[in-house]
Formats: sequence, structure tokens, C-alpha cells
Amino acid sequence: MKLENIKNYIGGKFREPTGGQYLENYEPATGKVYSYIPDSDERDVEAAVGAATAARSDWAGLKPEERAKWMMKLADAIENDMDLYVAAESKDTGKPVSLARAMDIPRAVSNFRFFAHTITQFSSESHFMQGVGINYTLRSPLGVVGCISPWNLPLYLFSWKIAPALAAGNTVVAKPSEVTPYTAWLLSKTCAETGFPPGVLNIVHGLGHKTGEAICSHPEVKAISFTGGTSTGKRIASVAAPMFKKLSLELGGKNPNIIFADCDYEEMLSVSVRSSFANQGQICLCGSRIYVERPLYEKFRKDFISRVSGLVTGDPHDGETNIGALVSEQHMNKILSYIDLARQEGGIVLTGGEKIIAGGRCSQGWFVTPAVIEGLDQSCRTNQEEIFGPVVTIAPFDTEEEVLAYANGTGYGLSATLWTQDLNRAHRMAEKIESGILWINCWLIRDLRTPFGGVKHSGVGREGGLEALRFFTEPKNICIKYH
Ligand code: NDP
Repeated sequence: MKLENIKNYIGGKFREPTGGQYLENYEPATGKVYSYIPDSDERDVEAAVGAATAARSDWAGLKPEERAKWMMKLADAIENDMDLYVAAESKDTGKPVSLARAMDIPRAVSNFRFFAHTITQFSSESHFMQGVGINYTLRSPLGVVGCISPWNLPLYLFSWKIAPALAAGNTVVAKPSEVTPYTAWLLSKTCAETGFPPGVLNIVHGLGHKTGEAICSHPEVKAISFTGGTSTGKRIASVAAPMFKKLSLELGGKNPNIIFADCDYEEMLSVSVRSSFANQGQICLCGSRIYVERPLYEKFRKDFISRVSGLVTGDPHDGETNIGALVSEQHMNKILSYIDLARQEGGIVLTGGEKIIAGGRCSQGWFVTPAVIEGLDQSCRTNQEEIFGPVVTIAPFDTEEEVLAYANGTGYGLSATLWTQDLNRAHRMAEKIESGILWINCWLIRDLRTPFGGVKHSGVGREGGLEALRFFTEPKNICIKYH
């Protein structure tokens, strides 16, 4: 059977890569190639930027309500094709179908709806100077912008960038991760089917260092919104910053999950299992370093291990599955090498951390059971570097100061989770924890209006709500004097 060739979507048309080369696209659960994606180069990016430039003034000239209407159409069409999108996201990433249905695709729909609504409420500032005059701020679209997203939450994060960019009146050249291109391909088909204005959204598939870099270095691309690893963010900044492009960088994390003995134990336990291992631990917000106040430590250790070892790792199609496949063989090997490293660093693997052969159609898939590791120093590499897989470390602590030092003791600062019933302590620690996002007595509750992003090596800038619309517009102050 001939496998499907995914195509670029440029100027409202499906296009083969100019160089005629394709890359293999794997299904992680089976380890088999199931489609091919364009190995695009700078010529394809040039064509996409050309199409986006041509579409720019018409799109920016639409009233916000009209742009919102187009975005609502996309949201409705994705929702109508929910089963198709859910199955595709699960197949392309290895995540359980149930997770793609509960989280990924509904969130992509919400992203388009949310920014469609938000742009109709967006307003700019005015500064009155008594007896002198008035200033008002014009906020104009930037023009053509680049959006580059990772593989862990493919359509969810792709749309999280595209939606505010479009809502604000920009035209977009976007690149999904080469590892998980399929739902972006479906989105391009949805654009074509709904008659979405050609050239407004252009999707170019390919490798980061080739296609991605061509987007970042193109002089007509005025801003780059990027989510991915910290080292890639650094590389992108080194290309785009000297060209004075606007940059939003959402990067890696090594997030602490801090548990005090006074927490609501049952709630904490079940949420901590999820915050450790949802999406096979491949969410930038997962808590990978768990710190437990000493009086609770032994009980937590026993119960947590019992819950984690009860998680079912296997076929993403199976309704019982909690842990699906890892996204690629390379990523699986990276995770297994970190588990080896943890052992070398003196860690004890209390449960999991094994590559398993899942049965049936998944016998060649990339599965690793969720690992809980104890006994490591806070400064060791396992506790300092982002593993981005089903691996957590656990450690006891005695005082607030001690755990704050652990929490803040990495180069990252994306998110943190704190479990306590003591309101004073919660506020005290919230102020001191170095992260862009903090969840208290919960995890991953998302209000799309809130600022989203990290500090330190976890990124620059904020996404979400008005922050995203501000990023995707250029402010101009206009001052009028009166007599
Ligand atoms: P990468 O940094 O490897 O890739 C992200 C995207 O950038 C991909 O589309 C990639 O293409 C592309 N890319 C790679 N090199 C370049 C380059 N030189 N110029 C332009 N684009 C490039 O990240 P992963 O896909 O491996 O995703 C995992 C990482 O993402 C983790 O570190 C995770 O923490 C982070 N992340 C952060 C989030 C946040 O909100 N802060 C949310 C989710 C994930 P290709 O796939 O072809 O390499």
C-alpha cells in the first residue's frame, strides 16, 4: 500500500516540497513509518512568506469581528471532525486516544474560539495629560510572523500560537514539529475546506535546522513565536535577535512538586500521579522533582509507588491505557539513558523505568514504564536536566527554606506545584518560588486569559490572553496637544 504524502500548505494550495524530498513519519506505538512529510527548504519558506505577504493587507484590513468569524469557522470544523483529529493525534504522538480526546483537540478548538472572542474585546491604552493633551496607543499587526511548535502537544500548541497571531491581524508561516506533523496537515485541509482566506495561514513542514531556521532568518518575518527546548530557543534567539525580530520563547522546565504534610492527601496523591506522568511525562509543565515533607515521606513513597506501578503502559487505542508510547525511538533512548545515569549517580529506581514490549500491533513500539527514583543529590544531572519523559525523582525535606532552595536550584523556572492547607505558607512561598506559573493544591488548571511562560532558562515573554495579542501587535504612541 502506498503511504500518504503530507504536503505543504502555501497560499491556500497543497504543494510538494520544491526539492522533491520527503522524510519518514512514524507511528510511535508500532514503530512503523505510516506517512511521509515534506523535507522543505528555504525555497518553500520563501514561497510561504511570499503568500503571507500577499495576503497581509487584506487580512489586516478585515474588522476584528470578521477575522473572528473565520477563526470560529476553523474551530467548528475541527470540532465537527473531532474523531478524525483525535485518532490522528494519538497515532502521530503515541499518546492514549483518551488523552487526545480529553485534552489535545478540545484545547485546540478552544484556542481558536478564545482568541476569536478576545480580539473583539482588545483595546489599547490612552493617557490623558491634564492641560496638555492626550496620548493614545495604536496597536497594529506586525505583518508576517513565524510560529514554530514542538511534538508533545502538537495541535494544542500549534494553535495556541497561530490563533492569537491571526486574531491580531497577522499572516502566518508556521512549522509544526517534524516528529508530529499530522494534525497540522489536517488543519491545512480544514482551512481549504472552509475556504479560509488563502495565504493567511501557511504551513511548511520539515526539519528544524532547515525549515525552522529559514523561517527565523527570513527578513520579512517580523516575529517568532517558538515553543520547544531551551537549546533550540538559544539557537533561534541567536538568529532572530540580531535581526531585531520580536521573540517569544517558551522553553523547557524541571518543575518542582512540593508537598507539605498538611495537604489534602488523597487529592494530592491522585493529582501528583497525573502531574508526573500525563502524556508519558512529556508535558513541559509536568512536575519531575517531587519534594515531600519528612513526616509524610514514607507514607507518600509507599502509596505513590503503589499507584504508579498500577498504571497501565501499552496500546494508545486501549481504553485502559494510562501511559502510551514515547514519541520517537531517539527520545526513548534518551530517557533510558537518563535512567541509567540516575543509577550511576546513586539513585535507586523504586518502580518502572523499563523498556517493555507491548503486545499485538505494538510489539515494535517505544514504551517505557513510569519511573520513580529516590536517593539522588539535588545537584546531580538527573535532578538538574530536563528529561521530558515518564521519570520523576522523590526526596524528603524538613523546612520551607530547604525546599525553596531545592525548588529554585535549577536553571529552569517554568512551573511549580505546591500542596499545603496553610494559606500563609502558600502565599509566602508563591512569592519566592522562581517560576512563571504556580499551581497551589492543583495542577494544569488553565484559564486562557492568564499570562503563560517561564523565567530563567524556561523562556522569554508570555503567551495567553492579552499578553499574546500584545506580542503580536506593534504599539505606536500618538500624542495630540490641545489649547
Ligand atoms: P525542539 O526544540 O527540538 O523543537 C521544537 C520545534 O523547533 C520543532 O518544530 C523543531 O523542528 C524546531 N526547531 C529545531 N531546531 C530549530 C532551529 N534551529 N530553528 C528553528 N526551529 C527549530 O523541542 P521538541 O520538539 O523536542 O519539544 C520538547 C521541548 O519543548 C521540551 O524541552 C519541552 O520542555 C519544550 N516545551 C515547552 C513548553 C512551554 O510552554 N514552555 C511546552 C511544551 C514543550 P524539528 O521537530 O524538525 O526538530
